[in-house]
Amino acid sequence: MTGPHDEMTQVWITGPETVEVRRVPVPEPGPGEVLVATAYAGICGSDLHTLRRGHPWLPYPIRPGHEASGLTVAVGAGVTAFAPGDPVYLRPAVACGDCFYCGRGKENLCVNLVGIGSHRPGAFADAFTVPVAALARVPGGVSLTAAAMIEPLATAVHATGIAGPLSGATVAILGGGSIGQSVLLAARAAGAAAVVVTDPVPGKRDLASGLGATATFDPAGPALSAGIRTALDGRPDVVFDCVASAASLGDAVDLATRGGRVVVVGVGHGPLTVAIETIQDQEVSVAGSAMYLPADFAAAERLVAAGGAVERLVTATRPLTDARAALAAAGAGADVKIQLTGPAA
Ligand SMILES: [Zn+2]
Ligand SMILES: [Zn+2]
Repeated sequence: MTGPHDEMTQVWITGPETVEVRRVPVPEPGPGEVLVATAYAGICGSDLHTLRRGHPWLPYPIRPGHEASGLTVAVGAGVTAFAPGDPVYLRPAVACGDCFYCGRGKENLCVNLVGIGSHRPGAFADAFTVPVAALARVPGGVSLTAAAMIEPLATAVHATGIAGPLSGATVAILGGGSIGQSVLLAARAAGAAAVVVTDPVPGKRDLASGLGATATFDPAGPALSAGIRTALDGRPDVVFDCVASAASLGDAVDLATRGGRVVVVGVGHGPLTVAIETIQDQEVSVAGSAMYLPADFAAAERLVAAGGAVERLVTATRPLTDARAALAAAGAGADVKIQLTGPAA
């Protein structure tokens, strides 16, 4: 796969609901870049948004894949931090370090952000090249499967940071997909006293219970709010909206305690209606959480290194060549995390 004329598999999203699995030349790492052979590349909710209605930053085509692990194959000129064969994972949002937001420690809001799997071709491919800044070494004892979950976990760690100190707090998580389950792990690690998770899929509720949720609920079930208040002995201090629809955010605000906090972690779109009187009169804060900061990756690495629970979020693996079916399955919603597998798996 390393010769100049070799070809590889690469997944393209070329338009709404259009996935193409192409054969393309293996890229060469430029100066300051590394060529990585893909091991595992998770399908993210944001990939499904790209497939359904386009990417928020860029027009089609998109070559996706940003939750990834692999082995380095070759390094470009000037690269000393990595050598061929190193196990690595992606930190796929490369900030400029120079703009107004980077200067204030908000690299996640960088106006010159370069995304791997968006601005640059991603990890839904046998291999990909990235600047050194987009790579980190896999911590010792961490599997390549778990390493590909560090990026979504960093998103969850960031969201718990936005929520404020969680030690002793009660938490409700709306949505038991990959983000919701990751927030569950991060909230428990941050010392939350009790955590409830809502999801319509029984398997996702079972997984949440196995990962330490105090109670789980079908959001379509009767007396949801009363059930949550019973399980938490009151209203939740923090509600994480990992669904991010107009309905779920309305539910989150309704559910929050006086002086409580709602953190929107899911990727949603479109306008919403919430009760202004609840936000004002009951001092409910609604905050967004976007990606992560460098410190969130350090915390996510510690979470992954502390135990194998994160591997349980991966409910299916499929070869890259099955990307179309895998994306359809991810969109169907029964799985928590589907990972595509590459040659380094
Ligand atoms: Zn993602
Ligand atoms: Zn910047």
